[in-house]
Amino acid sequence: LVVGVPAEIKDNENRVAMQPDGVYELAHTGHTVLVQAGAGAGSRFSDAEFAQAGARIVATADEVFAGADLIVKVKEPIPAEYHRFRAGQQLFTYLHLAADRGLTEFLLDRRIDSIAYETVQTPDGRLPLLAPMSEVAGRLAVQAAAHHLESPSGGAGILIGGVPGTPAAKITIIGGGVAGTEATKIAIGMRGIVRVFDTNPTRLAYLSDIFGGRVDLVTPNRARMAAYIADSDVLIGAVLVPGAKAPKLVTRSMIASMRPGSVAVDIAIDQGGCFETSRATTHSDPTYVDEGVVHYCVANIPGAVARTSTLALTSATLPYLVTVATLGVRGAVAADPVLARGVSTLGGQLTNAPVAAAHGLPF
Ligand code: NAD
Repeated sequence: LVVGVPAEIKDNENRVAMQPDGVYELAHTGHTVLVQAGAGAGSRFSDAEFAQAGARIVATADEVFAGADLIVKVKEPIPAEYHRFRAGQQLFTYLHLAADRGLTEFLLDRRIDSIAYETVQTPDGRLPLLAPMSEVAGRLAVQAAAHHLESPSGGAGILIGGVPGTPAAKITIIGGGVAGTEATKIAIGMRGIVRVFDTNPTRLAYLSDIFGGRVDLVTPNRARMAAYIADSDVLIGAVLVPGAKAPKLVTRSMIASMRPGSVAVDIAIDQGGCFETSRATTHSDPTYVDEGVVHYCVANIPGAVARTSTLALTSATLPYLVTVATLGVRGAVAADPVLARGVSTLGGQLTNAPVAAAHGLPF
């Protein structure tokens, strides 16, 4: 197939869907790769590096979309990109359709065959194309919280680890999956007092093994969550129900019970957010204050460390991309059950049950 890599155009999205190594791999498995000029600049990959790896550099996004059978992206298409798609084109990217009815309808109307990175799933339930970005987002969430707790940022003026003789910040993490676990590692590293809620007992047992008593591990219920949140300097939302909209686990009154200048980071905002007070923000204007609490709800957190994120994401996607480029979306879905779990739309049909349920659309 001809594989197209357009530049990302979402606010401050500096990642790119392929690194030169990926171009080299695809070129050597018989594919043509079109890369938009400057697409790698935000991740510090030059056009010359892509060209040397075998890419054809084209000047505009329109040329990428016009020439490619398969579009590979990082973020979901935004309305400004819709007109570029041809009917029946194939798309491999993050989609987050449960939180975006407009995009769902667009993909169905235009009969795009799409696989969403975040729903590609191995038989043991892992999400191999979401995991690397969740790792980055989890680690950065704590860095962001630390920064926004500072006085000049409008925070309570608290150093996460304190210093000897002062109390450390209390950090409550809801969801101890991939993002929550990485957030926990950094929060412990900064010497915060860390508590993690997760509904999955197997996950709690795993966290207990790896953190060996350095973290409070809590089975959630409303009363317990309310008590822990009221006594938190930092709240981090990291839950996921795969493919579905995030459950609103944290109510407005729980947020209002936090001390003024505390920080709430809703990593799950890309799935609609798990705090009642969350609304999506961008890297250029990342926070707002609601109920006295600084909210950081950036929908593309990994974009802030574009080089690390591009390297992590493209290393994970490449083996799947080779399959999709070789067999096409339909062939890949037929041949590989891991990719089949990720298929979102095929020839105008919605193929993901949680997305259909989120929008009340036929499945
Ligand atoms: P994951 O599946 O590894 O972890 C989610 C965890 O939430 C699981 O351990 C699950 O048991 C737990 N959970 C589910 N329901 C719960 C509940 N009611 N109470 C407590 N725990 C509950 O998922 P992940 O890869 O860590 O992703 C977490 C979230 O981060 C997702 O919404 C993902 O889309 C999002 N994400 C956001 C960004 C961003 O830039 N904002 C980047 C990457 C990932």
